[in-house]
Amino acid sequence: MEKKKDWLIWVVLAAVVLICGGLTVKSLFDFGIIHIDKPYVPQYIDIEYNDLGSAKFLDGKTAWVSIFASDGSGSWDFTKQADCDLRDEMLSYYPVAAEWIAGEGKKYGFSPEFVFAQSPDDSLLYYEAKFDMELLDSKEYKQINGVASDEWFFVDENIDSGAIREKYGCDNVVYAIFLNTPADYYNTAMALATFRKKLAYPYEMLWLPANSCCPAVVAHETLHTFGATDLYTFDGYGISYGQPFGFDIFCTENYPTDIMLSTADAETGEKLKDRITREITDITAYYIGWINEPPFDVDGMEMVHSHFERR
Ligand SMILES: [Zn+2]
Repeated sequence: MEKKKDWLIWVVLAAVVLICGGLTVKSLFDFGIIHIDKPYVPQYIDIEYNDLGSAKFLDGKTAWVSIFASDGSGSWDFTKQADCDLRDEMLSYYPVAAEWIAGEGKKYGFSPEFVFAQSPDDSLLYYEAKFDMELLDSKEYKQINGVASDEWFFVDENIDSGAIREKYGCDNVVYAIFLNTPADYYNTAMALATFRKKLAYPYEMLWLPANSCCPAVVAHETLHTFGATDLYTFDGYGISYGQPFGFDIFCTENYPTDIMLSTADAETGEKLKDRITREITDITAYYIGWINEPPFDVDGMEMVHSHFERR
């Protein structure tokens, strides 16, 4: 009997070691720390221009639709002055971000414009919502799988996007969810964008937690919905353009002022509330289709080309 037990323990141990080893090797491949050289075939994202979701091309008019959402991370109570003040402050990020994007667009020969709510009275552009769960708690799940079902259902049932397009003459609509998060809230802003995979619903969204938001964050997340990617990390989940390990160093050296590299002021490291001191540089301009020629060796880095190249 004893012998049999020993044998069983060894089998279980061997299985545990095998599984752990396998998982470690798999994650080394997933994160691009080790990779096997294979002949590289330049890739283009297989998304047609017509399938680019609610934020297509960053020119002409874009509507930011505000959704002030109470969720598991915090509630809005607009009978309280503090919440009204915070709402006013967050709404004040829009004109700053809009003016900055317009100025950057001008450098590349484009004229992006934005319409947005400046008070709760802007009935087509302002909404309040309540969700039972913590919306940013499933941030990675949402990004990897490209789903935000509860938020999409809210938009589908409550917001007449067609009426917004018609009234304001908008080519693009971006839905911004404002969260009243506590000061020590750990999740940062995110966007759900149609640049890697087609989403089940065309609604492209931003989640903006109050404790870490500023105009540069609104601009950064909005740029994602138009195709821009993060420059401060590699593409560990295969949900972006296949940026290799060390991509952040490459970008820090070549595009140090880009807003997709950081949303903080380059000199002070502060999150400025009243202006944006960063830029849209050529790499971001390429991925949002403002320039057609890639400014770096996309094939050499084994990355995915901008879908706008084929437009
Ligand atoms: Zn980002």
